[in-house]
Amino acid sequence: MENLSKSMQYTPRELLKKYFGYHDFRVRQEEVIDTILAGQDALVLMPTGGGKSLCFQIPALIFEGLTVVVSPLISLMKDQVDALNANGINAVSLNSSQSFEEQKAILNQLYYNQTKLLYVSPERLQESGYLFEFLKRITVSLFAIDEAHCISHWGHDFRPDYLNLSSLRIHFSKVPVMALTASADNTTQQDIAQLLKLRDFKLFRSSFDRENIHYFVKPKAEMKNFLPEFLRKQEQNSGIIYCLSRKSTEKMAAYISSLGYLAAYYHAGMDADLRNHVQTEFSKDNIKIVVATIAFGMGIDKSNVRYVIHIDLPKNIEGYYQETGRAGRDGAKAEAYLFFSKGDVMKWRMMIDSGEDLEVNAILHRKLSKMATFAESSSCRRQFLMNYFNEKHNGNCNSCDICLSSLSEYDGTVDAQKVLSAILRLEERYGIGMIADFVRGANVQKISDQMRSIKTYGVGSDKPDFYWKEIIRQMIQQGMIIQTEEQFPKLKISEKSMLILQGNLKATFVRVKSPEVSKTQSGQENYDKQLFTNLRLLRLQIANSQGVPPFVVFSDSTLIELCTFYPQTPNELSEISGFGSYKIEKYGHLILKAIVEYCTKNNIPSVIHQKVKRRK
Ligand code: ADP
Ligand code: ZN
Repeated sequence: MENLSKSMQYTPRELLKKYFGYHDFRVRQEEVIDTILAGQDALVLMPTGGGKSLCFQIPALIFEGLTVVVSPLISLMKDQVDALNANGINAVSLNSSQSFEEQKAILNQLYYNQTKLLYVSPERLQESGYLFEFLKRITVSLFAIDEAHCISHWGHDFRPDYLNLSSLRIHFSKVPVMALTASADNTTQQDIAQLLKLRDFKLFRSSFDRENIHYFVKPKAEMKNFLPEFLRKQEQNSGIIYCLSRKSTEKMAAYISSLGYLAAYYHAGMDADLRNHVQTEFSKDNIKIVVATIAFGMGIDKSNVRYVIHIDLPKNIEGYYQETGRAGRDGAKAEAYLFFSKGDVMKWRMMIDSGEDLEVNAILHRKLSKMATFAESSSCRRQFLMNYFNEKHNGNCNSCDICLSSLSEYDGTVDAQKVLSAILRLEERYGIGMIADFVRGANVQKISDQMRSIKTYGVGSDKPDFYWKEIIRQMIQQGMIIQTEEQFPKLKISEKSMLILQGNLKATFVRVKSPEVSKTQSGQENYDKQLFTNLRLLRLQIANSQGVPPFVVFSDSTLIELCTFYPQTPNELSEISGFGSYKIEKYGHLILKAIVEYCTKNNIPSVIHQKVKRRK
């Protein structure tokens, strides 16, 4: 790793490219960084996966002294330190699992200013004031308090140790403090600012919409029909399945295993070693499916979780959104399924009523009702969620079950007449393909000059091929056309056809979306799946040889870009998001070798220019 003091010569944007391999900042990141560099405090509210870490990591690279990151869990610290090291940045963590010698060596590194980032738990920071005293003797340039909502009693993850952080301001009055959280509500925000004694701070809040997560709600009765096929499609991917009770996680994991997939369960009743084991193996992609209670939560920094399924109804929208938010942190497409039954609402109601504080019960009931309304609603799920969090959304997200299935009806009598007259003019001798080609006036050999001379040839040239084929299919279904049953089925006129041609019957169709539209909207569907499988395996090998989880080596979204643009030289590789100079140097040759071999065999050229063009 190179001498980091050199990085002070770089701008934030240059560091973003050099170390992280990203070409643009996400919304708010740059403003946050500028604020911190100017020495001001900041409170940063961004959803999970929003990119909070870079907001302190880049200033850390620029500042003279040390950036201390307070983080609540050893597993979170470990993932972040691994990820920084994998990008060629020297970062360390101090925690209770290290021996005295290890800790001494780390303090030594800090003393000689050999590292820019120290991750530490709040209890470790406070212990006997010793670390405080040490930090006072070296230069600390920034405190970043991650998961800052842990300081608030109102938050769902209150940690008493976080309260000690109030004294940071007293001991380090000149050092800027940055608090980061994905909890958006006002009370928690106020608590954070007040308890950390943030001073003249700037508040940053980015949209909580997670566009890459697609939301689906289904009746619980359909779950057992749904799961086998879904898990088959997701076989290569990681996912979390949430259940309400410990017992049901065990039952569900057994059921999934009976379907032939390896699934582990996870709940607070298990012993700590076993829980750690499940979490580590999940992180390393060795266990793909974890069936868990919500105890499986905050420590999951894994970025390539591709789906989250709720088998039981969560008790409020906050919980639901946080749990689904564990999918797709890397920004690539992910899916969230909720299986709903009214019975679950009843169960929750009884549980709430067993509580003694009536005022609290009333709040819990209100929150539960919202959750149930969400599941039963027939409007855009994303719009509902965003409104719940006081954010405007126009609906029509095209990535929830409601939007994807809301296909409106329209009057297509004129189009139906065009099709029927083509069938008649061509004397009922042809099938779907020919009729569609004739109507849209396709210039193909099978349409003879004589056919082209018919006056209705090309009357539907304003609409594409898939449109005509689709409405012919709908006409067959509705009995407006008869399709013969033979090897090459022909289209024939029916009684209904005549009524439509005479204008005595309206033809109503369901609007279909163009395949082009659905492709661009789900964006990432269009990559080379075979190459993806090859590169994923290579990633696993690299990860195992380095002793880190695969998502630390490359994110799924980096792999998807590789399998879309086929870069074939180190220069081209640097255009791919997620390849900083360190990763290119370290793994570039392995990745390029795999891509070049694959492309040569299949005669595929690099199309990296498309990516460069898109960016401009
Ligand atoms: P958070 O802490 O807010 O949950 P992270 O900091 O872990 O989110 O970032 C989520 C993912 O997004 C990480 O894989 C990170 O590398 C990536 N990321 C962050 N900033 C950018 C950016 N500007 N461009 C591309 N990817 C980014
Ligand atoms: Zn929607």
